[in-house]
Amino acid sequence: MRSPRSALRPFLALLSFAGLTAFAFGGTLPRRAILVSFDGAGGLDLEERLADGTFSPDGFARARSQGFSARRLVVVTPSLTAVSHAAISSGAPPSKTGIVANWFHPASEALRVRVNGFEVESEVETIWEAAARQGKRVCALTWPGVTQRSPRSSAPVAMRYVDAKPHGTLWRGPTALHPLADLTVSLPLGTKSFSPPKTFTLDAAGNGDGGRDVTLTFAVIDTTDDGRRNYDEIAVLSSDGSLAARARPGQWFSLSETRDEGDEKSVLFGRWGKVLALSPDLSRLVVYVGNEARTYAYPEDFRRTLEARAGFWPGPPDPALLESAEDTASFLEQATRFCEFFVSAFDVADRRGDWDLLLGYLPVLDETEHVALLLDPRQPWYTPARAAKASALVRDVWRVVDRAAARYMRFRAKGDVFFVSDHGMRPITRSLYIEELLRRLGFLKAEVQANGKRRVAADSPVDASTGGGVAFVLVNRAGVLPGGVVPPEKVDALVAQIADALRRATDDDGKLIFSQVATRLEAADLGLDHPNAGDLVLVAAGGTTMRGGFPPEGEKASLFGEGENPGQHGFGPDPKLDGIFFHSGEGIEPQRVESFRAVDVAARISERLQIEPPRTDR
Ligand SMILES: [Zn+2]
Repeated sequence: MRSPRSALRPFLALLSFAGLTAFAFGGTLPRRAILVSFDGAGGLDLEERLADGTFSPDGFARARSQGFSARRLVVVTPSLTAVSHAAISSGAPPSKTGIVANWFHPASEALRVRVNGFEVESEVETIWEAAARQGKRVCALTWPGVTQRSPRSSAPVAMRYVDAKPHGTLWRGPTALHPLADLTVSLPLGTKSFSPPKTFTLDAAGNGDGGRDVTLTFAVIDTTDDGRRNYDEIAVLSSDGSLAARARPGQWFSLSETRDEGDEKSVLFGRWGKVLALSPDLSRLVVYVGNEARTYAYPEDFRRTLEARAGFWPGPPDPALLESAEDTASFLEQATRFCEFFVSAFDVADRRGDWDLLLGYLPVLDETEHVALLLDPRQPWYTPARAAKASALVRDVWRVVDRAAARYMRFRAKGDVFFVSDHGMRPITRSLYIEELLRRLGFLKAEVQANGKRRVAADSPVDASTGGGVAFVLVNRAGVLPGGVVPPEKVDALVAQIADALRRATDDDGKLIFSQVATRLEAADLGLDHPNAGDLVLVAAGGTTMRGGFPPEGEKASLFGEGENPGQHGFGPDPKLDGIFFHSGEGIEPQRVESFRAVDVAARISERLQIEPPRTDR
């Protein structure tokens, strides 16, 4: 363990003294803390819900009445998940962390290279590293940035996020493509059908992160001995013919098994499914099956306890249920299950108790608002009926999240409780093909691939990387980027030309497309003057997001497509996109302030843990 910098020693000594005093007066030392991030929870949104009776008294309401809180956590720009968490984790803006988007172009790589902002290490120290350096033990439960992929991004007790494909499979039949056949094998032991059993198969995917693809065999049965053909249940058959699961209309079923994976023995894999519809005469049958997934947790005994107490990784709520079935009930059930999984994981970690700082994460609000934020009649999916349904869904997921908050608040008896979030959400009306705009303005060179699709040419003078409502224009500098083509002496003039054109760019209604076009120098005001943010930072105005690629219709196509999601974030400063902040702990006086900065969170936690904050001077 390295010793703290000498300049801080008197400060730390003072803190220790204060700590001892607290101890003498019955305070609990050493202090422990949990920091929970409610991804996508907007501060002003939460404020309204605190007033309108959405919540119980035990969750956010308790956090507000019993501690220090702010109406808004002022988040960094762009308000994207990886960027915001990196800033909260280190107490430094993106200009220092180097994590500037969820996907971005690393400054020294070739023009078209992109890296994942969740997997890149911060260029400055993080709170989990600072804590470890000072002898504190950290537990991280899917905290963005703690991926367990490298020593710097690891915690001794951890569960990493599973980057699963969110879409499961829907079987709708019977149709020519999805027929129901007679079941020719015998039904599993203990299963009886009073009408001839029918069968169908469904190809269910793995999740791209450990789960396997399988073909599932179902039997449709009639469990009532009433002399009528009225089917009322489905059974899932194992490959050996035994019964794997059964469910009636409206019921969920789970399929799970343990298998070895590499060095890991008896890993629990599983998937959830639901019978969405089953008409007794079999004229209609709809079955949903989610992707198979597993939990990744460390050390091994933590994974085993998690599997025993919380089950397998249930996966996020599936947007496919909203898109094709508008089934908000099933979506809510999935969101609830996912949320309860994270709370169970926290329970297991809490019982272990072998940590001083726990970093927790709850993504369900973000996942819900991305697909269900219908507030603006100009949104392509908007109808008053759909908007009402969507808003009820969002409220219900807030309530689920509030129940989780109530559980986390119970930790208050053992230590400090911090609640944060990384951004709010904005309703989206359209998306801009920024690369196509740059091409039409004559700055970007595209090429046609063998499959007929266009992409940016490797020797294009510029490209743009995108994230939410922000794009970074990258100049393909010769001598800096491998394969770069723009000589150093021509860069400034090119950047000025592009900036000028984009600042004047308007849509068909004559409205400016960008609310901000900032050079590297100007990006300093946004905390974004980092080479990874390219040469120009563009922030889209209003409900427009940026998208990569080119419109499939080609030359005559509109520069704007549908928004990729009804709700999005990742814009410049905007109170409505700010997050939440709550802090309760021994001796913390109840107080509500207007705002607290995301970059001040790490220092506040460090002070309470009596450690030096993360080192952010590179
Ligand atoms: Zn987020």
